[in-house]
Amino acid sequence: MADVTTDFATDKSSGTTELDALVIGAGFAGLYQLLCLRDRLGLKVKSLEAGSGVGGTWYWNRYPGARCDSESHAYWYTFSPEMMREWEWSERYPGQAEIMRYLNFAADRFDLKKDIQFDTRVTAAHYDQATNRWHVRTEAGETFVVKFLITAVGCLSTANVPNFPGLDSFKGDWYHTGEWPHEGVDFTGKRVGMIGTGSTGIQAAPVIAETAAHLTVFQRTANYSVPARNVPLTPEFQQYIKDNPTEIREATHSTLNGQPFRIEERMALETPPEEREAIYEKAWERGGLQFRASFKDMMASKAANDTAAEFIKGKIREIVKDPKTAALLSDIDHPYAAKRPPIDSGYFETFNRPNVSLVDVKAAPIERISPAGVCTKDAEYPLDIIVFATGFDAMTGPMLRMDIRGRDGVALKDAWEAGPRNYLGLQVAGFPNLFTITGPGSPSVLCNMPVAIEQHAEWIADCIAYMRKQGLERIEARPEAMDQWVAEVNEIASKTLLPMAKHSWYLGANIPGKPKVFMPYAGGMVRYREICTEVVERGYEGFSLT
Ligand code: NAP
Repeated sequence: MADVTTDFATDKSSGTTELDALVIGAGFAGLYQLLCLRDRLGLKVKSLEAGSGVGGTWYWNRYPGARCDSESHAYWYTFSPEMMREWEWSERYPGQAEIMRYLNFAADRFDLKKDIQFDTRVTAAHYDQATNRWHVRTEAGETFVVKFLITAVGCLSTANVPNFPGLDSFKGDWYHTGEWPHEGVDFTGKRVGMIGTGSTGIQAAPVIAETAAHLTVFQRTANYSVPARNVPLTPEFQQYIKDNPTEIREATHSTLNGQPFRIEERMALETPPEEREAIYEKAWERGGLQFRASFKDMMASKAANDTAAEFIKGKIREIVKDPKTAALLSDIDHPYAAKRPPIDSGYFETFNRPNVSLVDVKAAPIERISPAGVCTKDAEYPLDIIVFATGFDAMTGPMLRMDIRGRDGVALKDAWEAGPRNYLGLQVAGFPNLFTITGPGSPSVLCNMPVAIEQHAEWIADCIAYMRKQGLERIEARPEAMDQWVAEVNEIASKTLLPMAKHSWYLGANIPGKPKVFMPYAGGMVRYREICTEVVERGYEGFSLT
């Protein structure tokens, strides 16, 4: 095992900064964690951010059509009712640019940017047991020595570009949606190929098709989607938001997924077919993720789920005029919402345009990229631009691309060789004073993100405040508590249909060679919040505090 302390000790090129705490990232999570630690606890703390501005996932994902799938009045910070009154959302779902404006507004309102170091990518973080400090190194060679290290690196921030042979030889331009150029991409008159039909591809395709000469969508796994039905917010609804910040916070805090709507109590299988269809029809017309909340048994019973799946497949066949294309788009191999369910603005309708075609790369997989375009087993598709909407090395990727080493120099990538293991999604045994926000083992991606983020950032801040008050220096998850939590995360997932989507990034199955472990906690945000609170009430049960 490498002598990690020596690594840092030999680095005399740049200065070393000593702090109480360091936050990695300045997206939704990093900004709020910085605020909690600096303004509420009075710590000497900084955030390091790879981007040149705040925003995290929204800073990088500037692809055409990028928009949040949670409704705007639920997709923001709720810790400050005053700030909720000061900000005004313009649309039912906030677009990428509006979210960036919002996060800049929040950062400026609390004067956070002065404590964020931008254009700074963290490459390594090593724990030194003798001094109980984390030594954190950046790409530029700077070193930070801190007692508490909090990763707010996001779940979907490590782009996955499939390793197709020949990509270097491609004569046109190619882009990954998660690393989109700030100046945008002009598709006018171009032959565009887009690989991937997850939430991103489904948002991007209709917008790309508007200007491209031709758009070829390469689909491996067909996907469900429900119309978003985005609209400008009415002045009445904007006023309702301003008048009810506390109610909105309470609503998002009392639901399974941190959304402002409840899952209905009724059962799909106990509802007469005609009534059930009418319920689905109404949910389809209303649009959005709420479709998933139509029946209580939808994510627990395959037969119940089939009723929703068949309804959506029927809609696809109704919308898409070419029967062959409709058949390909509706040939979906997993239960509805077992993969993160997309919502769209005209996705299926896009295939009725004369300048859009669909290629089935399940039947004839992409074999390589040639200088001219994409080559499948059957044909070559000449292209000017390739868009990779191919997703992310989710949840563990952003953590493991840093060289994190805990007690005795043990690398996180070794501790997680068989899949992520932690306690409450907050701490890994053997990595004292290191906290992760919305990583694996927590509701994170199964929850409306800002709700999950606020709970984590507040829990971590409260924990550090408690330690300071008690004169405690070190907190670390106990191995047996971690084992129990990992078992609980697995058990809860196994009671749902979620693990049935064999290629899902929830399982890590989208990345070749990645261990297949269901990563997020599927027990719901309300239960998770209770567990975290109970752990504290029992004196930080499951953690060693010294
Ligand atoms: P994704 O859901 O992982 O989808 C990636 C797509 O690329 C899939 O269709 C996948 O096919 C395809 N793909 C990957 N490798 C391929 C290969 N070698 N050959 C052919 N096809 C390949 O990624 P995403 O769409 O970027 O979405 C990721 C997550 O980001 C979402 O689930 C969501 O949580 C979040 N997101 C949120 C929003 C929002 O709130 N507005 C928008 C976009 C994304 P297979 O299915 O066959 O693997």
